[in-house]
Amino acid sequence: MITSANQHWLARSQAAVWHPCTQMQHHAQTGSPSHLPLVPIARGSGAWLYDFDGKRYLDGISSWWTNLFGHANPRLNAALREQLDCLEHVMLAGFTHQPVVELSERLSALTGGALGHAFYASDGASATEIALKMSFHYWRNVGRPEKSGFLCLAGSYHGETVGALAVTDVAIFKDAYAPLVRAAAHVLPSPDFRLGEAGESPADVARRAAAALAAHLEAHGRNIAALIVEPLVQGAAGMAMYDPEYLRLARELCDRHEVHLICDEIAVGCGRTGTFFAHEQATNDGTPIRPDLMCLSKGISGGYLPLSIVLGSDTIYNAFLDDSVARAFLHSHSYTGNPLACRAALATLDIFEQDDVLLGNRDKSARLGAALAPLLDHPQVRHMRLRGMIAAFDVATDDPHFSRRFYRAALDREALIRPIGNTVYLMPPYIVSNEEIALLGQAIAGALGEALA
Ligand SMILES: *Cc1c(COP(=O)(O)O)cnc(C)c1O
Repeated sequence: MITSANQHWLARSQAAVWHPCTQMQHHAQTGSPSHLPLVPIARGSGAWLYDFDGKRYLDGISSWWTNLFGHANPRLNAALREQLDCLEHVMLAGFTHQPVVELSERLSALTGGALGHAFYASDGASATEIALKMSFHYWRNVGRPEKSGFLCLAGSYHGETVGALAVTDVAIFKDAYAPLVRAAAHVLPSPDFRLGEAGESPADVARRAAAALAAHLEAHGRNIAALIVEPLVQGAAGMAMYDPEYLRLARELCDRHEVHLICDEIAVGCGRTGTFFAHEQATNDGTPIRPDLMCLSKGISGGYLPLSIVLGSDTIYNAFLDDSVARAFLHSHSYTGNPLACRAALATLDIFEQDDVLLGNRDKSARLGAALAPLLDHPQVRHMRLRGMIAAFDVATDDPHFSRRFYRAALDREALIRPIGNTVYLMPPYIVSNEEIALLGQAIAGALGEALA
């Protein structure tokens, strides 16, 4: 029996929509520890989402790490309305337009000019595939076709299309499709600080992981095209954080062995870790290291529209210039460089500049840490950690239903907080207020108590 507008949409969605990253049966199992509620959302405003019955949820994870400046943001809405009346879409092969030109220029400037060319797609996994293809094709164009292997880190996540799964090391996403996935990638030890042995600092763990990279490159570097990393935080691994020293050493080693460094900044880019790009926290004499290729998506459009970008160095770009079409990068997607999505990204960059967002986030980051600090003494809380606008901790429990129990308990407390396995994390939009951060902290404490009871 349908008793509310919520139940109406919930029932229709369960019947017709195949939801992502979901065992659909869990939606139907009300009352069981496996139950995963399905929440129909009518509208959003700021950091809040509202259902059809007037219940609200504080978006503690930025709707899968995409939303930076809140839902229905007036400035983004205004920019998109203007763009909508001007140009909604035009193919990018043979045509160009103002938003894509301006966005490419501004992103290149944000890398200090190191990455001078921007290639466009619509989702993160496609950006990964583009970066892998570009790297391999670059080496082929310069007469080194044997450089066809890729390196990734244990626990890495770079997307779930068949090509991107080759460099993804998360069992639940990869194992079922193992026979389809090309075995070209080698998985290296992660610099995750939680792997530290007694007396080891996070920088020590980073140096140990870099030594494994050095040994592998020494033996196999001549056949390797690129190393792909999530700089500073491996998100899907459970917010695994590591010391910037790893990136500094990886840059050095990649240079020495003529291997591209691909920074997947899809989750950690756009200010999430405290700097605009996470890799900027790895420096030599105060100058940030730069990757050869960088992937952006998620937050770059403010969480509004599907958009991904691969930025490449001039060296890579120039190796594709030739009279021959076969030497060109022929990759394309129908919506490559969509003007609406680019305009959303430009409006997002405007907010970063106009509001000095990186500066404001320093105080918010400290408050996120403070909101979780009361849990430091909890007997089942481990590895409390904070990097910019990501705060996380692990929960010591054998309960296979922990993450869903916690998720349901948090929803009951008006908070959208979706643990990854036993890792509870906060990754709120940057417009979150101090009061809202405090609410998230209280919801986590309450949900933890209920989920472990
Ligand atoms: C989300 C994510 C991807 C994949 O992006 P999609 O748009 O979901 O395909 C790739 N890499 C990282 C680091 C991500 O967080």
